[in-house]
Amino acid sequence: MNFRLSLIVSAAMLAAAPQAIAQDRTAFEQQAREIYRNVVEIRSARGHEKVPEVVDYIVGELKAAGFAGEDIQITDYDATGEATQGLIVWYRAEGEPSEAPIVLLAHMDVVDALAEDWVRDPYKLTEEEGYFFGRGTADNKYGVTSLVATFIRLKEEGFVPTRDLVMVLSGDEETGMVSTRAQANYVHETIKPAFILNADAGGLSLGPDGEPLIYGVQGAEKTYATFELTVTNPGGHSSAPRKDNAIYELADALKNIQAYKFPVRSSELTRASLEAGGRQRLDKLGNAMRAFAADPTDENAIEILRDDPSTVGTIGTTCIATMLRGGHAENALPQSATATVNCRIFPGVGIEATEQTLKDVVANEDVKFKLISDLVESPESGLREDVLGALNAALEERGVDVPVVPHMSSGGTDGMHYRNLGYDTYGVGGSAAKSNDTYAHGLNERLPVDSFYDGLDHFHVMLKELAGPDE
Ligand SMILES: [Zn+2]
Repeated sequence: MNFRLSLIVSAAMLAAAPQAIAQDRTAFEQQAREIYRNVVEIRSARGHEKVPEVVDYIVGELKAAGFAGEDIQITDYDATGEATQGLIVWYRAEGEPSEAPIVLLAHMDVVDALAEDWVRDPYKLTEEEGYFFGRGTADNKYGVTSLVATFIRLKEEGFVPTRDLVMVLSGDEETGMVSTRAQANYVHETIKPAFILNADAGGLSLGPDGEPLIYGVQGAEKTYATFELTVTNPGGHSSAPRKDNAIYELADALKNIQAYKFPVRSSELTRASLEAGGRQRLDKLGNAMRAFAADPTDENAIEILRDDPSTVGTIGTTCIATMLRGGHAENALPQSATATVNCRIFPGVGIEATEQTLKDVVANEDVKFKLISDLVESPESGLREDVLGALNAALEERGVDVPVVPHMSSGGTDGMHYRNLGYDTYGVGGSAAKSNDTYAHGLNERLPVDSFYDGLDHFHVMLKELAGPDE
């Protein structure tokens, strides 16, 4: 109740919101909820080919609100064997735009959910116990809803942006990112935005009592890279063992990787994030987070952060064995052995340098390396003053007074493809959640109802700040 109440009674809001506007807002909230319900209830997961239904529905809503057909582009994609679509919608400036466009991202697909495993039907929007339940209520149908509803709201208010606003919705973010890659290239060649805002990351963190603690902006993602390490051998009969053995050699290589610690890395962004995270907890780990933020050479702090799964990835690259196969018969010497090693590479280090480090660590030329994931390097986006200002204005409108803290995530949103092309990309979603509300990809995904309604103002304020006439 607390921060919704503080929003309602905030003196600034009362002064700015006479009764008539309050009624409009209610109508808008109902409209947004209806959009949310419709998109959540379409099973746009792999194997169902229903992203086009989401596109069709959204396009209908946008056209009804006055968006011209020529400003709506639907593209078909063959996403690793199945059909999906991407949607790009222009909210155009009138006359000569003041600045380069802003691109806004969200994704329309979801990770599939099986009704028999859930307490409620995952493809029905259910409001219960102060939450909206359903697949995509958080990841990322909420992002889609907040962008679409905000475009409609601004249009209905007669808002004319001073620069083009371009909404780019992808259709296979959770699987192959075929649509994402194609859209990112299109944006790069044709739209050339000033920067990118992603509704699929970032948001308010709430404490156990529901009080907002910090607003996290996703400003960086680690680079995802997977290698296969293979040792081959002539093999032979197991009754006559050779000195060299593919399984033993591979095991030695993996033990070397296990023992190796990648150099400690930090950036302004990761230090700010550790400092803010550390302030929220008063235990040994929290103290180490703050100590590292103050002095990234503090050996004691490094040791503690390295030992904790929640922080080890924030202070450098990690590479870890995830799969193993080898040999072909119980009485034959192995002719080959292969391990899969997954790396999360700190921004700026690079895939090639990481591969070289692993080769040096393994120190055996018989171990052959093969990169099996796509190459997507994702440099860090330094926080821009204008984006920070717009975020602070949005939080103020919501009656929330908390620090805005950039953070790095482990990798995997549409944003990394845009950073890869050189665009500053910020995860600035409007939702608010406690750490135990995070059910993305999992069972019984949910979003607090208050967070849904409060977050609707989020992009509305931000876009007016970033693309509205100077007041
Ligand atoms: Zn997502």
